[in-house]
Amino acid sequence: MRCRFCGKKADIILKMHRIALCKKCYPRFFENRVLKTIEKNKMIEDKEKVCVAVSGGKDSMALLHVLKKTGFRTSALYINLGIKGYSEKCEEVIRSYCKLHDIPLIVYDLEKEKGKALDEVSKLKRRATCSICGTIKRQITNKIARDNGYNVLATGHNMDDGLVFLFLNLLNSDVFAISSSKPMLEGSDLLVKKVKPLYRFTDLETRYYAEIENIPYYNGKCPHSKEASSTMYKEWWNSLEEKKPGIKNSFYWGFMSNIQPIISKYASEVDPRGDIKRCKICGEPTSRDICSVCMIFSKDAAGGI
Ligand code: AMP
Ligand code: ZN
Repeated sequence: MRCRFCGKKADIILKMHRIALCKKCYPRFFENRVLKTIEKNKMIEDKEKVCVAVSGGKDSMALLHVLKKTGFRTSALYINLGIKGYSEKCEEVIRSYCKLHDIPLIVYDLEKEKGKALDEVSKLKRRATCSICGTIKRQITNKIARDNGYNVLATGHNMDDGLVFLFLNLLNSDVFAISSSKPMLEGSDLLVKKVKPLYRFTDLETRYYAEIENIPYYNGKCPHSKEASSTMYKEWWNSLEEKKPGIKNSFYWGFMSNIQPIISKYASEVDPRGDIKRCKICGEPTSRDICSVCMIFSKDAAGGI
């Protein structure tokens, strides 16, 4: 097979996009597709300030790299959750990358700010650690981006993440979560616009980009990921894909174009969560009186985790 761009021998064949490319041309293809995704979905408008939530993993580091390289007003935000043997390594990768590329970086230290690291909180848990972590990251990234005047909060979620998220929510019949699985969520006064510019790329496609562009990333696994059901379902989908190539794509894109809009419409008509209020303790947006993060960190609410 020949590279679609230069005609030389192709190194990478992307069945989903029906294209073969050489390593030299692959970054151009990847960057063009990211730009098209941003433009088509109106994710980032002219002059908007983008805050990229980075974990130190391949997806968010690739996103930070591509946005900076293509000229967006890009900054980075890292939440150090205090996961021993993991958080500090991710932080190191992010700090040195941002310094080298002159990217403003905000680091939020959970233990310093809230008095407890995730490792400690997870010992008191009733809820799964990854679910607590997700709740904390969602609120803090939004708050920091909003308070620092960013217009857009970008995350590195890719198609494989979207598939597993959808599948988990289907298993739980969570129509409200399914209705919010979109590449872009509009903002409001308390919520910053959220975008996922890599939502059309697979795990493998972002890994190729990160490796060809020599983007440093931390490849280790979070010690808590063993407990995550998402890890199990990711593996399950990959083994299914080996037996039935193309199944991930046909299921995910078929669902997202044909069924998700119907569920979204239904969910907007019957949403029982009511209006967004401000948490009585911290003032952050919530559908209840006290937000889930305050429930996690308040002394009395340890049992409420
Ligand atoms: P995960 O929740 O680990 O699947 O990560 C999904 C996305 O959330 C990543 O691609 C990042 O954009 C963002 N993210 C994950 N962990 C962090 C973190 N510790 N700090 C900031 N952003 C994060
Ligand atoms: Zn609160």
